[in-house]
Amino acid sequence: MDVQQAAGKITELQTLLNQYGYEYYVLDQPSVSDAEYDQLLRELIEYEDQFPELRTPDSPTQRVGGAVLEMFEKVEHTSPMLSLGNAFNEQDLRDFDRRVRQAVGDSISYVCELKIDGLAITLQYENGYFKLGATRGDGTIGEDITENLKTIKSIPLKLKEPYTIEVRGEAFMPKKSFEALNKVKEEQNEEPFANPRNAAAGSLRQLDPKLAAKRKLDIFLYAIANLEDIGVESHSEGLDLLDRLGFKTNQERKTCASIEEVLEYVESWVERRPNLAYDIDGIVIKVNSLQQQEELGRTAKSPRWSIAYKFPAEEVITTLLNIELSV
Ligand code: NAD
Repeated sequence: MDVQQAAGKITELQTLLNQYGYEYYVLDQPSVSDAEYDQLLRELIEYEDQFPELRTPDSPTQRVGGAVLEMFEKVEHTSPMLSLGNAFNEQDLRDFDRRVRQAVGDSISYVCELKIDGLAITLQYENGYFKLGATRGDGTIGEDITENLKTIKSIPLKLKEPYTIEVRGEAFMPKKSFEALNKVKEEQNEEPFANPRNAAAGSLRQLDPKLAAKRKLDIFLYAIANLEDIGVESHSEGLDLLDRLGFKTNQERKTCASIEEVLEYVESWVERRPNLAYDIDGIVIKVNSLQQQEELGRTAKSPRWSIAYKFPAEEVITTLLNIELSV
């Protein structure tokens, strides 16, 4: 393929992905599956890797997806809310491990967490009191959704210790709430939500807290934004502190001493995933030491010390199992 052909292909993919991104992040109404979106994004990454001169700063590969709705007050994040690099198979995870060890040496431990399929939010507390909550938006500017977030019962309005802290996590709609909500929508001849992720985003990105309260949302917190003020040395210590302060964290996390252990954890969740009360779309792997995280740094879009393993689409898994059973 020559440069001209690649340029045509890249423009075509960027236009399509921008359209899908708009439907997903702005309208909360995707028209294609996540697997289809991820596949197109991978194609674009491959073309741009082959022809780096064609990579533009506004490409969907270079920016955190999302946009800010005009009806909300804007919030400038105290530190960027990033996306994550993706891994789709064992080799991608081994490559990630190799890159990490090349940069910071072989003494590594990882924390593996479930990748909750909801929307990223940030919560600010002053002297232990909840002050402000916002969406990720474009990663730099988010939407002030404080009042809607207050309706989520698992978000503490007062912490157990008077910390001034900013915490980040994923708001989501449990499967049961989603089914009940769509049943009501159908009875009322309204368009149902495509999936729990979009239902959660749609519920939090509207102006009526009474409506948000009816939607039975929940949250898991997974990071501290102002770590420099807090005095912990590892990601896992940070999560333990969140537990102590009264936040809800996901208890399925596991600290792994090697990439082999990470792979075992990932594999185990491919089967256990349907039993969860909420949707997950993958596993997030994070370097545990904060010093090593700092050494690894980040790209414009995502940290180099973390990666998201994405599960294959459920239809694909079913097909694979069916083939195995019929052989
Ligand atoms: P991402 O999937 O690249 O991952 C980053 C996000 O993971 C974080 O912002 C956070 O919200 C979330 N997360 C969940 N659990 C976490 C944990 N334990 N630790 C850290 N982060 C955690 O996010 P993105 O950049 O918003 O998403 C791109 C994805 O969205 C695509 O891969 C695609 O699947 C989906 N998408 C779909 C469409 C569509 O049309 N179907 C369009 C755009 C994007």
